[in-house]
Amino acid sequence: TAAYETHEHDVLIIGAGGAGLRAAIEALSQGVSVGVVCKSLLGKAHTVMAEGGIAAAMANVDASDNWRAHFRDTMRGGKFLNNWRMAQLHAQEAPERVRELEQWGALFDRTENGEILQRAFGGHTFKRLCHVGDRTGLEMIRTLQDRGVHQGIDVYMECTITRLLKDGDRIAGAFGYWREQGRFVVFKAKSVVICTGGIGKAWKITSNSWEYTGDGMALAYDAGADLMDMEFVQFHPTGMVWPPGVQGILVTEAVRGEGGVLRNKDGERFMERYDPKKLELSTRDVVARSIYTEVREGRGTEHGGAFLDISHKPAEYVKRKLPSMYHQFMELADVDITKGPMEVGPTCHYMMGGIRVDAESAQSSIPGLFAAGESAAGLHGANRLGGNSLSDLLVFGRRAGLAAAEYAKRSMAPAIDSSQIGDAERQMLLPFERSGGESPYAIHDDLQGVMQSFVGIFRNEEDLRRALSEIDKLKERASRVHVEGSRLFNPGWHLARDLQSMLTIAEAVTRSAVARRESRGAHSRIDYLALDDAWGKVHNIVVKRADTMTLVETPVLEMPDELNQLLAEEGGAK
Ligand code: FAD
Repeated sequence: TAAYETHEHDVLIIGAGGAGLRAAIEALSQGVSVGVVCKSLLGKAHTVMAEGGIAAAMANVDASDNWRAHFRDTMRGGKFLNNWRMAQLHAQEAPERVRELEQWGALFDRTENGEILQRAFGGHTFKRLCHVGDRTGLEMIRTLQDRGVHQGIDVYMECTITRLLKDGDRIAGAFGYWREQGRFVVFKAKSVVICTGGIGKAWKITSNSWEYTGDGMALAYDAGADLMDMEFVQFHPTGMVWPPGVQGILVTEAVRGEGGVLRNKDGERFMERYDPKKLELSTRDVVARSIYTEVREGRGTEHGGAFLDISHKPAEYVKRKLPSMYHQFMELADVDITKGPMEVGPTCHYMMGGIRVDAESAQSSIPGLFAAGESAAGLHGANRLGGNSLSDLLVFGRRAGLAAAEYAKRSMAPAIDSSQIGDAERQMLLPFERSGGESPYAIHDDLQGVMQSFVGIFRNEEDLRRALSEIDKLKERASRVHVEGSRLFNPGWHLARDLQSMLTIAEAVTRSAVARRESRGAHSRIDYLALDDAWGKVHNIVVKRADTMTLVETPVLEMPDELNQLLAEEGGAK
């Protein structure tokens, strides 16, 4: 490895969102050396965009809340496909993680007696989301950065990891490049934690930013790790639909949490038909399908959405509780949300599936490789409840950091053979060497079109099969991708690499979606409309075998009797 710039750490964390930073803080506290790599500038991760809040059963507003109720809501929301142990740990540990964040300096909105204020959100029985107006993620990232970065974590910004390196079966580090210079870099590490977030950029309409191309999931898959529950992609019910340039940008669920009402073009409050009990605060899968159906059946707004209205609340209240939404609509759509409704429609938002991990340690199926946050699977099952991601980052970010540090402490330094590195370098240089090949931008556009049209909110066998054959063609085109220019900040070259990840993950999603012949949570098959008990007992696992993407069914972990009873006792209908 002498030919390459090399950095060595006990624990290497890929991704500097909430999960990565929380993992880094914990690993550092164990006395090991920690490096964090991220694709963009520090502080730009997805987590910073989170608006609505962090779910934790603190019982500050509704005294009856407790971890059991949070556990039950999470399992119900996930249609019981969740890893029960993760759901239990998450519900039990989230309040402590939020209090810790507060001790580290996070300033939450407050109740009259000075406790952290909590708001209502879809699928949560009690007012449970701790928040800072509609800028919760910003406060969370600010706090974690303050806590972590100044205490000795080495941060490598604007550096994209393109391959995991192994020593036999175990992890040994990662290979990447500096986005600005295009130079290659090697990280040696005893353990690696993947915290790279989601895959939204494979769809055309998405709330996600350019960074979310499924890299971490694809890196893990390429290294031989199992991916799980890949068919479960969350479409958030409310993204902006107009003007076209802002389509997909998120309209936080906090609008509904604060009393926002959905209506169709006839002024009808249509959620009364789809979920008369929970109305706008039904789970996201249900609300997204309802809006989609209204539009498809001709009751949509002029620009193909629904109306979301909070203007019945006092203007001052709206501006205080939803400042970002107020500015977002004023600046981007010229709409004053204190005076009239917003136009909204579904947008690709969150990946429930991801790297399969152990509940306690967050370790993947590869020794020394851990994963947490949106890139990991398990906690959310078939559908995530709003607010349960930020709490997931804190609970499992911490667990992953701790376990990765412990693993590093009991391991010898791994060896990395230079052929792996040479191969990773060759892969990266190929797009420059071809002449007259395909443009990465054109392939990306086409992929987004395919995923949007055929692997969206409603699915059927024919569309999914068509998507698979289109993805095959796109993969073939991507093998001929060509980029002009040099390695100095070259966005086309970056996209050429990101495309590889997106294509791998798009294929994993589509194959899993074909296999699951039922409708459950975010996965709706119009050719198999019902929930099927047999499918409730298995996960689809995607794994690379002899270079071929292979699907394996694995049984859902059996829940202990006392938790089963807990779900039954408190009315957790299956
Ligand atoms: P991210 O915060 O997405 O960070 C990923 C990191 O990985 C980044 O630093 C990125 O640069 C890095 N990275 C990626 N690929 C590479 C690579 N190849 N090499 C190096 N680095 C890489 N959830 C809630 O619970 N409550 C909310 O209110 C809420 N609101 C949301 C609002 C919006 C607009 C969006 C988009 C999401 C929202 N979510 C919310 C979901 C939640 O914000 C995300 O799921 C969560 O922040 C993901 O955190 P993470 O740490 O897993 O990854």
